[in-house]
Amino acid sequence: MRIILLGAPGAGKGTQAQFLMAKFGIPQISTGDMLRAAISAGTELGKQAKAVMDAGQLVSDDLIIGLVKERIAQDDCKGGFLLDGFPRTIPQADAMKENGVVVDSVIEFDVPDEVIVERMAGRRVHAGSGRVYHVTYNPPKVEGKDDETGEDLSIRPDDEEVTVRKRLGVYHEQTKPLVDYYQAEAKSGTCQYLTIDGTQPVEQVSALLAEKLN
Ligand code: ADP
Ligand code: ADP
Ligand code: ADP
Repeated sequence: MRIILLGAPGAGKGTQAQFLMAKFGIPQISTGDMLRAAISAGTELGKQAKAVMDAGQLVSDDLIIGLVKERIAQDDCKGGFLLDGFPRTIPQADAMKENGVVVDSVIEFDVPDEVIVERMAGRRVHAGSGRVYHVTYNPPKVEGKDDETGEDLSIRPDDEEVTVRKRLGVYHEQTKPLVDYYQAEAKSGTCQYLTIDGTQPVEQVSALLAEKLN
């Protein structure tokens, strides 16, 4: 199963990725998590990406395409994968196509901007695993700690409201065109396209996915 998760920042991609990974036994490829790992490790890539990410802008297509290309070539992706946060621009989608990377399903999470702003304000993340929580909607068992490791949760620097609003602007401008792009692909029979109402509770969104994915 090869899946693309499409949706605004905070739409619930990472949260549902955890569910889908377990359900289908496929790895999550989160470009955001990969970039944050590079920042923590202090690599050259991380240094280049940090300022761009903190400003709520997109990292260059070339850099991201190279990163995903390398990741998809690894053995654990042979049986499928879950793309979370990639592609985010038309050139990224074109690069994937040119390279013969096909997908079975594209899932779009539909969530209004005002809901997103509220979600981001309460988002807490476990940097090591990519697990995400929300202080109200999806709280950890112990406040401020990851359920599985007990390690501290953190707040992403780009989740501050002004930056979130900037990221939403970038989403509408640069990523939203992928909705038409993949709907056209689905019409020509290359993949399945699903639009999911992402405003429902986490478990209901998961249930919808389980029901509709084929
Ligand atoms: P969210 O989960 O809130 O949508 P991500 O973790 O996916 O955010 O991405 C965080 C940041 O990393 C983005 O704002 C952007 O700067 C960078 N980034 C992640 N994926 C991409 C991508 N495919 N293309 C360009 N930049 C990306
Ligand atoms: P290769 O080096 O394997 O022959 P190409 O140079 O033909 O690949 O790749 C064509 C374009 O597609 C390049 O811009 C490349 O970076 C990009 N690309 C390759 N693989 C992927 C991938 N898995 N995801 C996104 N872009 C990719
Ligand atoms: P994305 O990966 O699309 O940026 P996340 O999965 O990180 O989104 O979710 C953003 C925030 O919203 C997190 O705090 C998460 O716990 C919360 N969240 C995710 N899905 C839902 C949902 N269906 N209802 C309420 N909150 C949610």
